Amino acid sequence: MTTKKRIIRAKTGVERECKGWEQEAVLRMLYNNLDPEVAEKPEDLIVYGGIGKAARNWESFDAIVRSLKQLEADETLLIQSGKPVGMFRTHPHAPRVLLSNSVLVPKWANWEHFNKLEKEGLMMYGQMTAGSWIYIGTQGILQGTYETFAEIARQHFSNSLRGTLTLTAGLGGMGGAQPLAVTMNDGVVLAVDVDCERIQKRIDTKYCDRMTHSLDEALEWVVDAKEKGEPLSVGLVGNAAAVHHEIIARGVHIDIVTDQTSAHDPLNGYVPEGFSLVEARELRENDSTRYVKLANVSMRKHVEAMLEFQKRGSIVFDYGNNIRQVAKDEGLVEAFDFPGFVSAYIRPLFCEGKGPFRWVALSGDPEDIYRTDRLIKELFPENEALCRWIDMAQEKVAFQGLPSRICWLGYGERKKMGLAINELVRTGELKAPIVIGRDHLDCGSVASPNRETEAMLDGSDAVGDWAILNALINTSAGASWVSVHHGGGVGMGYSLHAGMVVVADGTELAEQRLERVLTTDPGMGVIRHADAGYQLAKDVAKEKDVVIPMDES
Ligand code: NAD
Repeated sequence: MTTKKRIIRAKTGVERECKGWEQEAVLRMLYNNLDPEVAEKPEDLIVYGGIGKAARNWESFDAIVRSLKQLEADETLLIQSGKPVGMFRTHPHAPRVLLSNSVLVPKWANWEHFNKLEKEGLMMYGQMTAGSWIYIGTQGILQGTYETFAEIARQHFSNSLRGTLTLTAGLGGMGGAQPLAVTMNDGVVLAVDVDCERIQKRIDTKYCDRMTHSLDEALEWVVDAKEKGEPLSVGLVGNAAAVHHEIIARGVHIDIVTDQTSAHDPLNGYVPEGFSLVEARELRENDSTRYVKLANVSMRKHVEAMLEFQKRGSIVFDYGNNIRQVAKDEGLVEAFDFPGFVSAYIRPLFCEGKGPFRWVALSGDPEDIYRTDRLIKELFPENEALCRWIDMAQEKVAFQGLPSRICWLGYGERKKMGLAINELVRTGELKAPIVIGRDHLDCGSVASPNRETEAMLDGSDAVGDWAILNALINTSAGASWVSVHHGGGVGMGYSLHAGMVVVADGTELAEQRLERVLTTDPGMGVIRHADAGYQLAKDVAKEKDVVIPMDES
């Protein structure tokens, strides 16, 4: 196995290396996932979310690139946990690539088995959009995080976070969206991370305002900003398991508490209290069992602090990293006393088929995205929140890698936007095709009982069929690439989920595929929630003619 360090940059421009734009889109998105501006540790092929990777190893990466360059417009490439394993003749409406990442037979679906298989070179952790090549940097989660904090403001703080203080931890690929999402809602946030380089990256990309190693200084800054009602984000270098208790001891009132350390992966994602990054790396390599034990104990302590904040009146919620489960497994009986963010704030959006719709300009030209920003406003002028979001994103979000945009759109809206984008490509208003995709954290693509499907109305939290049906219908509908993953977000054994990407290259073929896929995909969200008994989803289905054979309401 080679150990050479490689630097991969997103490719841009109108010249192709592949035989068609669809294949070229896959290639550019793979490169984009590993662009140093986008990925957290590109030299190890790690994109985000603990050890979420884009390819199993560099040999596999090279083989994927070679295969994509050979791939014909009626062939399909198969990827098994980051390694290309076959190429078959299919047909032009079929996906060009099908991927399955980290899927283990249920009885074996735990980190112990996964880590063993990974060590043997047989598997890779795909997280969600890392292994399915549609990660777009921290912006990808920004609107969802912004919407979550906006909903908290609506439910608990008279529509704004002005004059409130949020405490969180983890400023990695996804967690790094938190400081900007809070300040966009006019609040103040203190975000703790053990790794000063991660905080620096958020400062460089304008997601976070200031950094300090001193808790005293951090508290002085945030309390002052809170009193003045000024938005401010501060990254504090420290270990959350310790810092949170110190803040409790000092009696500082925190309004909102959450967390986005990579708690889903105790071995690679969470640094135990008392360890420097170097010491943690050494322990991880030399005694992984002890590392996991210490990380779990620290996570229990971390959750104990969150529960104490809740007792003292803070709004506390789990932000999708499974930290409550770890604490519960460590014996903390009341770990689930605070809710997860989907059941508390996001589910009504899922009922309408809404979710994190995103698109990427393959030209590499930011002007292509600015044109699509205007397109959103032309298509949905009545949606003031959406138009405001586009203005804010334009002003505050620095592009990472290929220029891209995200916004939450629902059933009907995604198709409308996708077809309009295809038209702009066809008429040459955009310089090159656009890739359209989404996070796996979406309305109809995940089974994750501690997150997206927590506390479903009918108790169907752990039913995995929906994620598989999502991948099957999107494949049938003709997405450009479709993926099925296990363990994303919350770790091994806790989730099954599917991804899809479809390319708008301005052709009639693309138009047909976009129309179908951008209907089936959000449609899965509507039918999944209607089936679980949510009246809002049933109403949306009725209003928009989504056929549900056994719905009598
Ligand atoms: P990441 O691995 O890129 O970043 C995790 C960060 O946590 C790192 O910067 C690390 O230094 C820091 N950290 C680790 N231990 C710490 C400790 N004890 N104290 C303080 N900081 C510590 O991960 P990410 O992509 O940012 O994702 C974070 C978590 O959120 C993951 O579990 C992921 O699965 C989950 N997630 C949430 C959402 C969502 O919408 N809420 C979406 C995707 C993923």
